[in-house]
Amino acid sequence: MPTPLRSFIEVAPDSHFPLENLPFGVFRPNDAPARVGVAIGDLVLDLAVLEEGGHFRGGELGDPAVFGHDSLNAFLALGRPAWQQTRQILQHLLAADTATLRDDDALRKRAFHRQSEVTLQLPARIGDYTDFYSSYNHAFNVGTMFRGPENAIMPNWRWLPIAYHGRASSIVLSGTDVRRPQGQTKSPDAATPSFGPSRALDFELETAFLIGPPNELGEPVPIERATEHIFGLVLMNDWSARDIQTWEYQPLGPFLAKNFCTSISPWVVTLDALEPFRRPLPAQDPEPLPYLRAPNDFVLDIRLEAQLQTAAMHAPQTITRSNCRNLYWSIAQQLAHHTAGGCNLQPGDLLASGTISGPEDGARGCLLELTWRGANPLQLPGGETRKWLEEGDRLTISGWGEGDGCRVGFGEVTGRVVA
Ligand code: CA
Repeated sequence: MPTPLRSFIEVAPDSHFPLENLPFGVFRPNDAPARVGVAIGDLVLDLAVLEEGGHFRGGELGDPAVFGHDSLNAFLALGRPAWQQTRQILQHLLAADTATLRDDDALRKRAFHRQSEVTLQLPARIGDYTDFYSSYNHAFNVGTMFRGPENAIMPNWRWLPIAYHGRASSIVLSGTDVRRPQGQTKSPDAATPSFGPSRALDFELETAFLIGPPNELGEPVPIERATEHIFGLVLMNDWSARDIQTWEYQPLGPFLAKNFCTSISPWVVTLDALEPFRRPLPAQDPEPLPYLRAPNDFVLDIRLEAQLQTAAMHAPQTITRSNCRNLYWSIAQQLAHHTAGGCNLQPGDLLASGTISGPEDGARGCLLELTWRGANPLQLPGGETRKWLEEGDRLTISGWGEGDGCRVGFGEVTGRVVA
């Protein structure tokens, strides 16, 4: 990796938002309408102000009107050449030796806000949301719990990226409290089910990617072109009610156990910013069918952590450490498979990884695995234990690519459980 880039904006060495990153989000400054910005250090750069000033004209961007919106959708639809041009312009404008913004006090005052002083919003209008099941270790652990190790991995799992269509309307921004859902559950020894609050509330450590340009209905995206449709990634917590899930999931899969709340991080880290963290996709066995094969397919080396803090704890405790590299199916394979039958994806659609667990015990991405379905409760400082999440518990997921002298990070997705 090259020497870290230098900006005239001061960026702490452990910041997730150096000049190499420039993740996109949507924010509201004071009482002004929402608009698109990028994070740099502790600041947000207001792209609507720069757009009004004509800083993005020409080339792939033409005369854009995409940043004064309350979602990224219009920008997402423009596609990678326009995204890359925007990134180049921003890296130039923010560079230590570029005077345009650096020496224009009036413009600086209008264009920069402290992140702590703005209100962040969901980055996109998410029309459709799909959740995959692409970590081998997660699938193996969960399969082992329910069917034993010999039958843990279903025969189809190694041939196609399994997923279900989720619920977009209940996707919320990081920081939103999650309400314990009510639902129908049935314990094995009960004759009939009962209705009430879930007693097995869980988190799932995931990442998710946002779709850029659409594909037409009936026109699959070939795997070699998959990344043209992928803008960038966010962190995601797919809150799950395990007791509701156990009773409802057969034969059609998750429903109410997964649709009450799904949290995502506010800043979308672009695939271009994640370029240095691409690693070749490991060999898959069996070799996938041709429509799922691409010569340069990749996984991303992104470190992931989940922290838990109960109401009684003074500081959060890291309960798992995983990595995006633990995904068996790549994001290109997920997208190619999703569209293989002709399904049309739209700008702002969200496609999630599924729980990302690694091979180590300390890399399990949900409480279901960490406590082995409640059999081995987590031991927390102060003598508390947890099989599942309780009221007042805060779960925070963070993630970053570790560069040479800088971190390209996602910030965090956090949420607190309330009754
Ligand atoms: Ca999930």
